This record gives sequence, structure tokens and C-alpha cells, in this order.
Amino acid sequence: MYADIIVDISYEKLDRIFQYRIPEHLREQLVVGSQVEIPFGMGNRVISGYIVGFSESTDYPEEKIKEITGISPGSRRIESDFIRLAAWMRSIYGGTMNQALKTVIPVKREMKGKEKKWILPLPQNEQILEGLGKKSPVKQKLLRLLREKEAISLEEAEAAYQISPAVVRQMKEKNMIQLVSEELYRNPAIYQKERQGKETILTPSQQEIADDFLKEYQSGRRNTSLLFGVTGSGKTEVYMKIIDGVIAQGRQAIVLIPEIALTYQTMRRFYEHFGERASIVNSKMSMGERSDQFARAERGEIDIMIGPRSALFTPFKRLGLIVIDEEHEGSYKSETVPKYHARETAQELARMKGAEVLLGSATPSVESFQKAVSGEYRLYELKERVKGRTLPAVEIVDLREELKQGNRTMFSRSLRGKMEQRLKKGEQMMLFLNRRGYGGFVSCRSCGEAMRCPHCDVGLTAHKDGTLHCHYCGYTIKLPEICPKCGSPYIGVFGTGTQRLEEAVKREFPQARLLRMDMDTTRTKDSYEKILSSFGRGEADILIGTQMIVKGHDFPGVTLVGIVAADMSLFASDYRSSERTFELLTQAAGRAGRGDTPGEVVIQTYNPEHYSIRMAAGQDYRGFYEEELMYRKLLKYPPCGKLMAVLITSKEENRAQGLAQELAELTQNLCGKDSMEMLGPTKAGISRMKDIYRFVIYYKEAERGNSIEEAKKRLEDYLELYKDRWDCMVQFDFNPMTGY
Ligand code: ADP
Ligand code: ZN
Ligand code: ZN
Repeated sequence: MYADIIVDISYEKLDRIFQYRIPEHLREQLVVGSQVEIPFGMGNRVISGYIVGFSESTDYPEEKIKEITGISPGSRRIESDFIRLAAWMRSIYGGTMNQALKTVIPVKREMKGKEKKWILPLPQNEQILEGLGKKSPVKQKLLRLLREKEAISLEEAEAAYQISPAVVRQMKEKNMIQLVSEELYRNPAIYQKERQGKETILTPSQQEIADDFLKEYQSGRRNTSLLFGVTGSGKTEVYMKIIDGVIAQGRQAIVLIPEIALTYQTMRRFYEHFGERASIVNSKMSMGERSDQFARAERGEIDIMIGPRSALFTPFKRLGLIVIDEEHEGSYKSETVPKYHARETAQELARMKGAEVLLGSATPSVESFQKAVSGEYRLYELKERVKGRTLPAVEIVDLREELKQGNRTMFSRSLRGKMEQRLKKGEQMMLFLNRRGYGGFVSCRSCGEAMRCPHCDVGLTAHKDGTLHCHYCGYTIKLPEICPKCGSPYIGVFGTGTQRLEEAVKREFPQARLLRMDMDTTRTKDSYEKILSSFGRGEADILIGTQMIVKGHDFPGVTLVGIVAADMSLFASDYRSSERTFELLTQAAGRAGRGDTPGEVVIQTYNPEHYSIRMAAGQDYRGFYEEELMYRKLLKYPPCGKLMAVLITSKEENRAQGLAQELAELTQNLCGKDSMEMLGPTKAGISRMKDIYRFVIYYKEAERGNSIEEAKKRLEDYLELYKDRWDCMVQFDFNPMTGY
């Protein structure tokens, strides 16, 4: 018997199976998925690898075959299903088998993470506080904080409030607070007294969906379903009811949520419902913390894992359901090789495990909705918000008209009026700029030269502290006093980033309390959570932000949403820009009126007649879908066609360009077959990133064609032979979410 091994080195040349002999003493222990140490290469360097199978025979001379050294210390065995999944990912998305294996085992070693500690108030917090009288200001501070916040982590107490761990421990010993581990903290049964009697009673339409889903589930027919429900219609409650039913049948569930919506607010709803049977992973957790949660899943100690894309690889033994909330989200597509889509990968995993996939969204992706309409997916619909809440009234303001009237500020007269009203009444509002990293570009007024990053093909963004930053590589300089090109002192900041919006609000509404949420204010670990919870507690009147603020947050106090410049995402250079604009606007509008007071939305735009904007204002998903599908059909874009991007990168521009040229020539004669078209090779939209040059070729064909697959195979075979000559990286991306 020989073990078939994939070595743990991501290098195309080694992307094949190596055979090793199994030593006698390991015969019983090694299985498919074991991680082992092996001597490799001429020098017999010990490296690690994964067993992906066993063979009776070998084509190599017996005497040349080396022996496995041992099992990698502390390694976790990959389930054989995940090895099959990795092989599937590799075949669909490209890359090496090792890269695919690495993706399905995001946690490699079982490590004990440093555990986070949480400070919680005792029920008699108020009496304890009173008992202190005028003594111990620091302790008082902590007790007061606990009164508002219900929990503070030990780190936060120290970093944000200068309360040292020593003081906290002392207070714990004196029985003034509770100090609990992360795991206990997450177990609502232990610390949440209010839990009893909070069981939500589903509305008739929610109940009907849950019942029907579970009836189908029980019948054993497996089929992806799409829950299409307007914002605030209670999709999460439906998921939870369905998961209850799946667990009752002895199965387990994975719930995928966009990373950005993985806030305490969301987690808490799941913990309240499922108690300690639910767990969570996110990218901010350490390897050890994530590894612990995966180990619990493997041991069957939990039934539900909640997390972003990578939670898909939770090693449940009896996986029965994968829920993908906000399934339209771009973050479900991996940005690194293999560039898998969590939706497609979930469907493959579900197929292997006999599990089912449930997608949910208020603005489904055009792909998914098309499948639902055509009957390939089951379609469930929630048309109304819960508790008779109405969708907000939306007004579109034509900014060209404002300009004609001499209004050059960022606020139309209508938006300003509505903001004033809210401030007077003490209601909250959100102002939204829909483009990430859209900062103030800096250029010279004399010669027009824009300040650019010397390492990337992008403009630098101005910050209020007088520095310029590159959002791709972190390059930072001081704002020059004179233009580096012509020497003119007239250098100016243009554009409307969130910082400038904040300044404009301050100028016009000096009395308003503001919070800003964007890439710059959320760099540190808990900052995102802090801003949201502060806003949730009513500590600010206005929350200003990028798309970060629109993702699934529930702030009942918000009665006005202002979309300051709706057009910004419209002119991105890819086929999804209309879809993304519609999504963002609809989701942003959906933040208003989630409490008992109805909400209003103002969309400011220079393109009031564009269908993305009109349909979003009318909250008319179907209307949008019809127009968008027509356009996709016409241009053969997904889902009415297939698209593949091939990205060729190198430190040397001429190498990247040369290889791109060669690859294009190689596939040229496939064009025309199945009406495949090739675009490029051209410089990518961002032609240089971190000093790496980028070229791209696009392939497009009708849905039924298979020329793209043929092109991919041809390219892969060619690359295997000649890649070294060019010293380039080549990545494949199917149905990319954004342009390159
Ligand atoms: P969605 O995910 O569709 O935007 P959520 O599931 O977040 O909607 O629900 C919106 C709000 O309505 C939440 O605060 C939720 O607790 C509440 N809610 C949902 N269903 C019910 C129900 N059946 N009864 C009472 N409140 C509900
Ligand atoms: Zn840069
Ligand atoms: Zn100049």
C-alpha cells in the first residue's frame, strides 16, 4: 500500500500526487485526510503533505519510493468529503490542489487560543454602585459603564477606559462584577436573564414558509431555495425556525453572513435562540480561537456555526442545511486563489452531504433570482415588513436642478429640511456615500497633475491630518506644499469622501452629534462594533458612512436615510455596477423606519432617470430584475452567458504583457466557436498594485457554450510547460464580481 500525497507547497510544478511508503507502525493510524511529514526532494528536506488517497501499486521503481516520516504534530485530519470538495474547487476555479486544500482547512493546527475575558454586571449592580458612595472613582466608572453596556471585554476596559486588569480582578474578588470566559459569555443561558419568554411568534407568512420548507426537507428532496423578503420582513426569524426543524432531525446547520454584518447584535439573536448550541467564527478571531470552535463542531458539541464565507468549511459530521444570508453580497466570492464563490461551493458541499441550501436576500443576485423564476430553485417570498411597518417613502432629488438653483452644497434643499426636522424631534438619521475608499483626490489646479501612489496605479486619498494615503498598499506621505511636477502652490483636494461629508455636516448642523464609519475609522479590532453600538444607544444623531453602514443593521431609531450621491457606484467599469447600485440603494433605504415611526429616504442623484435609481426608489426588485436581465441577455453577461477573467501579473511589465499576448494568441482560434469572444489582453483597470503589473484577458460566451472551459484547459496546459520562462502569476476568475 502506498499513500498518495499532495505536498504542502503552493507551486504549480508540484501540483501533482507523490507516492510514499507507509511505515508499519503508522498503518493503523493513517487515513485519507491525515497531515503527514515526508522527506522531499534531493536533500530529503522534511515538509508536510496531505494524504488524499491510497494505492495498491505504483509506477515508480520500488526502491525510489521514500517513506512517510510521521504524522504532523498537532494536525487536524481533513474529512475526506473536504478533500473531494477541494478537488472540485480546483477543477472549477483553478489554482493548485494545495491552495484548494488550504482553503477547505482554514484552521490547520489545533492551538489553544488566548481566551478573551468579559466583564458583566451582577444583578445588584445599582446597589453595589450606591454602596461605594464617593469612594473609588475608577470602580464607579466601570460599574456605570456596565449599567449601559451590559458587557465589556477586559481589553476594552483597559484600552478605551483605562481600567486596568488588576482593578477588574480585585473587583471580581470582592464580588462586585462577574468575569467570564468567552465561551461562557456566549452562552446566554448563563448570563442572560431576559431570555425567558422572548420566543418570537412567527407571522402567518413566516410560518407558512418555514412549514413548507421543512415539509420538503423531510421528504428528502434536496433543492436550493431562495427566500426573497423585503428589508425588515423577518428573514432571520424564518432561518431560525427552519434550523430548529433541521436540528430536530439530528442534523447540523451552517449560517453564512457577510463578515461586516457579524456584529454582536446579530450574534446575540442566534445565541438567544439556540443558546450554547450555536457558535461563531470570524476573521478577527485568532487561529487558536477559530480552531477551538471547529473542534467543537467536529465533536458534535454545537449544532449551528455562524460566520463569513470560510465558515462553510466547518467540519460538521451531520451537516443538514447551509443558510446564506444576503446571498447577493460580493464578499461571498473569495479574493484569493482559488477564487471560489461560497454559494456555488455550498451547493456542491450540500450535494455531497445530502444537505440543503437556503439563500436569503431583499435584493437577490440576478443569477439566483433567474434560477428561482425558472423553477430551478424554490422561491419563497416575504412581501411585507413585520408588525405592519411600512417601507419608507423615497424621494429622488435631481442634483442638476439643485445646481441650477444655485445650491452648491452637498445637501439638497429637501434633504437639509428633513435633517433639520429630525434634529428638532431628536430622531436619528444615516447619511450614506456609496463608494468605498472614495476619498478626496488631490491634484494641482495649475497643471492638473493628480497625486498618485508610486507603487499602485491609483490616486492617493487625502486625510484630515494633512497626509495622503494609498488604500491598496498603505503608502503615506505628507500633503506636498507645492506641485511636484510644476511647482505651483495651488494644490487642492477634490471629491467628496466621508471625511468631507462629515465636515459639511458639522458646518451646516453644528449642534448635531456625529459618528463616522468608513475604512479609516474602523481599522482597529472593535471599532466597528463600538461605532454601531454607540449609535444604537442613541449617542449620536447622525451616522455617516460608506456601504458598511447599510448591511443588515437594525436601528429602530432611524427615521431618515440620506443617500448623498447615488451615482458613484454606477459608473464602475464592470457589468455588475447597476446591480450593485440598486442593491446598495435598496438596502440603504431599508435602514429607515424599522421602528414604530415610519421612515423617509432621500436619494440625491445626477441620473434620476437611470433604472437602478428609479427602481430602488420604488423598492421594485422585480422591475429592476426585468430591465437588468434584458441588458445581460443582450450582452451575454452572467447569468445569460459565461465570463472568465484571466489575470496575469508580474514585477516586470514586459513579462506580464508578453505572457498575456502569448496566452491570447493561443486561444484566438477558439473565438467564434459557440460565439465565444475574447477581450484583451489589456492593462487591468488598476494596472499596477504594490509594484506588481497587471494585465487581463476576458472571455465571454453564451451560457450553453464550452469554449471557455476549453480555453482554460489550453491555457493551463501551456502554463504548466512555460510559466517559468515568464516568471508571472496567472489567476483565473469565473464570473468575477468586480472588474480588474
Ligand atoms: P430581515 O433580515 O428580513 O431584514 P429581521 O429578521 O432582521 O429582518 O427582522 C426585522 C426585525 O423584526 C427584527 O428586529 C426582528 O426581531 C423583528 N421580527 C421579525 N419577525 C418577527 C415576528 N414574527 N414577531 C415580532 N418581531 C419580529
Ligand atoms: Zn499604493
Ligand atoms: Zn502642477
